[in-house]
Order: sequence, then structure tokens, then C-alpha cells
Amino acid sequence: MPKSKIKNVVIVGGGTAGWMTASLLAKVLGKTLNITLVESDDIGIVGVGEATIPPIVNFNRAIGIDEKEFINVTKGTIKLGIEFNHWHKDGERYMHAFGSIGKKFPFCDFHHFWQKHQQLQNGSDHIDGSSFWDYSLNYQAAKQGKFVPISHIPKTNLPGLAYAYHFDAGLYAKFLRKHAESLGVKRIEGTITDIAQDHQSGDIKNLTLEDGTTITGDLFIDCTGLAAILIEKTLSTGYDDYSHWLPCNRAIAVPCEKTDTIEPYTRSTAHKVGWQWRIPLQHRTGNGLVYSSKHMSDEEAKTLLLKNIDGKPLADPKIISFQTGRRRKQWNKNVIAIGLSSGFFEPLEATNIHLIQTAATRLVKFFPHHGINLEEVNEFNRQSKTESEGIRDFIILHYKLNNRGDSEFWRACQRMDVPKSLINKIQLFKKTGKVFCHPNDLFTEIAWQQVMIGQGNVPEDHHPLVDTLSKAQLDDLMKDLKTLINRTVEKMPSHNEFLHSL
Ligand code: FAD
Repeated sequence: MPKSKIKNVVIVGGGTAGWMTASLLAKVLGKTLNITLVESDDIGIVGVGEATIPPIVNFNRAIGIDEKEFINVTKGTIKLGIEFNHWHKDGERYMHAFGSIGKKFPFCDFHHFWQKHQQLQNGSDHIDGSSFWDYSLNYQAAKQGKFVPISHIPKTNLPGLAYAYHFDAGLYAKFLRKHAESLGVKRIEGTITDIAQDHQSGDIKNLTLEDGTTITGDLFIDCTGLAAILIEKTLSTGYDDYSHWLPCNRAIAVPCEKTDTIEPYTRSTAHKVGWQWRIPLQHRTGNGLVYSSKHMSDEEAKTLLLKNIDGKPLADPKIISFQTGRRRKQWNKNVIAIGLSSGFFEPLEATNIHLIQTAATRLVKFFPHHGINLEEVNEFNRQSKTESEGIRDFIILHYKLNNRGDSEFWRACQRMDVPKSLINKIQLFKKTGKVFCHPNDLFTEIAWQQVMIGQGNVPEDHHPLVDTLSKAQLDDLMKDLKTLINRTVEKMPSHNEFLHSL
């Protein structure tokens, strides 16, 4: 690999991935680099990807975005979690609420206390998962349509609300473009028709646009979405296919008129084949059906989606085909793939924009200013693989633990062999109530507990620490927590009022 200084960075693609990467690079390393972004108005952006997870709040802060302006410009709303309807069984629902549940204890998590309390209440080993979320501030605020940013429950050391955003993807890309250009990023409009490689190293040397303009660079960031024109079409990097675990390969998306009350959470509703998202924005509601073309035709999907939206459609439904999986190497030669060009797990837990954020952050940390080292590339790729596999397992969990059985699609998901790491987690939780995550895992123990309990994998045992409390002490603990949470939510303004206040 060549060891020449890296000074000229070319970002190819101006969707969420391109402009997020451009903004972070410019903010942190802009003084030492020339950053160019090429995008094609003729091709456009994928235009979906409107739900996020809490770390985006830090990303926006890091690149210097004002939250109020961002929410206003992108027609954004607050997201406190994802409600899963009919995922376990028809008629059942639960939430993956962000933030904590109950109270933090050393040695064992809150759900062990909740579980023993449930058993004592019911006088049996039967656990009814419905009340676990009585102890989630995020859940209670979400379901009551309340929001105000609070870091703590007043007069306690219990954490406040953890939140993310829903936003209009097109408006976010435009907003970031303005921001990145103000930080010195040079934008070139045009469609790339030719890509030249160095004969010896295979590195990308330059790109040629339709009008004949040539763009040279030292490092290229492939943000060309599902087209992946550098990392795959040019470098043939290869793809690890996850479709045997994550079988959906199509989405059909349509916005519709907004509802009066704007709920501060995403809704994911399982259907006979696949599931439907509902993302409330200030000016419209985003909807989409994610399905498997093996089990449902595009026409059936369109009918099902249009039958299940809140209001008048505002555009024609748009079909997007994808293959779940990830690029074998996120960094190959002098190309780093960020965004959909690096892979796609499907949108169930809204992890893809987050993966843009972590890849761009990793790029800054690993920035090869004196030239590319193989060791650095390998470590970058190792970290991104580990991160992706943790997220992949968490998404598979939802499918594997379904108890629907009303179609071959869901029955196949129940039967499928899943990664061993996931089987171990499911079984350990069932037998002991314990779940352990690595410090760098995106989804914490509390996220896993909610999905496992919500999907019916309720533990058979609890931690012995719980038995050190008497029944009266346990009752008091649960009652006090519930009261604190209810009182706090009662005093919050509605989510609509919060948005108006901006
Ligand atoms: P794109 O938006 O497709 O941008 C590609 C860019 O490359 C464009 O600017 C295009 O013009 C340019 N380009 C391509 N070819 C050329 C060429 N030859 N010359 C010049 N320019 C070129 N993520 C989440 O986090 N949350 C979600 O809720 C979520 N929902 C999703 C739902 C669906 C159905 C899908 C498919 C994805 C979803 N995602 C979600 C993922 C999210 O949409 C993407 O991660 C995000 O939009 C980034 O896309 P991108 O920038 O990689 O690609």
C-alpha cells in the first residue's frame, strides 16, 4: 500500500451518510484536509431513514448543530422508543423504551426485583410482562404523549428521559449540506461515469463525471448508497449475506397526512408477512412495510400498507429492494464505505444512521494522515465487524422469538438456526434472568431485557440478592418507583406543546 500523505478526501454521495461524514470530518479535521463531496441530483438520495437512536443527540452536538434549529428545519419530532405491536402474538404489544427501567442496583438488574414482585403478586410463577414498563419513565412519557428534556427525575439520582429524533431524511441531508459547506466542504454536482484505479495497487486514482470533469483524491469515502460504486462495483469487496437470518428484502414506503397528536415514539406493527413502520413527523407521518418478496408480492404489500395508514397518502408508494448483510471489509484499499454502501440490516431498530455516525467517528479516530497502514485498516475492519454483529443479533432476536405461527414467514423465523452467540443469550436469560453485553455493544442489557420479556422469553429464576428484601420492602420499592415516575410524567408538557415551544 502506498505511504503518501492523505490530504485530499473525496466523499462520493450526498445522502445522510455523505453529509454526516462530511460534517464530522470538516468539524474535526477540516483545517488539515481538503474535503470534496460529489453528489448527483439526477440520481438523488434513497429518501428513507427517518428514525434514530439516542447517540445522534451527541453527534449533532459534536458537529455544532443547534438542537432547536435542527428540529424546526427537519420537521423533527422526539422519539422515546419503539412500540412493537403483534410481534410476539397478535394483539400483544411491548416497547423497547430508551433509557433505564426502575433503579440501578449493583450486582443485578432491576428486572430481577420486578420479576420476584410479580410472582408474589400473582402467587405463582406466572409472569405477566405488561407491567414491567410501569417502571420505565420513557415508556410512560411515550404512551402519554409527554416530553421535556430532563437529565434526572427531580430530587433523585434516577436518570431522566433518553431520547432520539424522527426527522425528514431529505431535509436533514439539505440541512447538513449547508452546515458542512459552512465548515469548508466543497460540493460538486454530477454523475460519476468512470472510475480510474492505480495499475499496481488497485487504489482509486480519480473519478470522471458525465461532463468530463476529473476529480482526484488520496482517500475516497463511498457514500453512494445501495449502488456502492467504489467499494463493490470497482473493488469487488464482497458481501456477507444475512438473509437467512433477516429474511426481508423489500420495503415499500409512503408518507401520509399527519395526525393531530404527534406521538413521541416509532410504531412497528407485525403483519402476516413482515412489519410496518409508522414515524410521526411535524408535517406528515412516514409509513413503510418491510417484507420478503418470497412470501408477498409487491402488489399485495402495497394494498396492505395503504390499508393500514392513518390518513391520505401524500405521494405514490415507493419500492426499495435490498439484501440484508454487510460489506466484507468496510475499508478496502483507499476506500471506506459508509452508509448503505457498507451494508444494511433492515430498519427494525433504526440502527443504520447510527452506523454512519460510528463509522465516521471511527474514521476520524483512525485517520491515516501519513498514509494507509494495513494494521490500521485491519483494526478498523475488526471493530466495525464486531459492532455490526452485536446489532445483527439484537435484530434477529425479534424475529426468532415470535410466537405468531400464522404464516410460513413467521414459522420459518421460529425454526431458523441463529448465531450461537444469540442462542446462548436467549437460553441464559430464560434460565437465570441474566444477560450480559460487551462494553462496546450498542444495545445494553436493558434493551435486551425488554425485547426478551416482550417477546415472551420470561426468566424462570431471579438473582438471590432480591431475596434479601422482605415482601414489604419489595412492595415499598416498587410502589415508590411507580409513584415517582407517574408524578414526573404528570408534570411534563405534552410532546405537541414541546414542539410548539420551539
Ligand atoms: P443514499 O441516500 O442513497 O445516498 C446516495 C448518494 O450517492 C446520493 O447522493 C446519490 O446521488 C449518490 N450517488 C450514487 N451513485 C452516484 C454516481 N454514480 N455519481 C454521483 N453520485 C452518486 N436508517 C435509520 O437509521 N433509521 C431508519 O428508520 C431507517 N429506515 C430505513 C428504511 C428503508 C426502507 C431503508 C432502505 C433504509 C433505512 N435506513 C434507516 C437506512 C438509511 O436510509 C440510510 O442509512 C441513510 O439514508 C443513508 O443512506 P446513504 O447516504 O448511504 O445513501
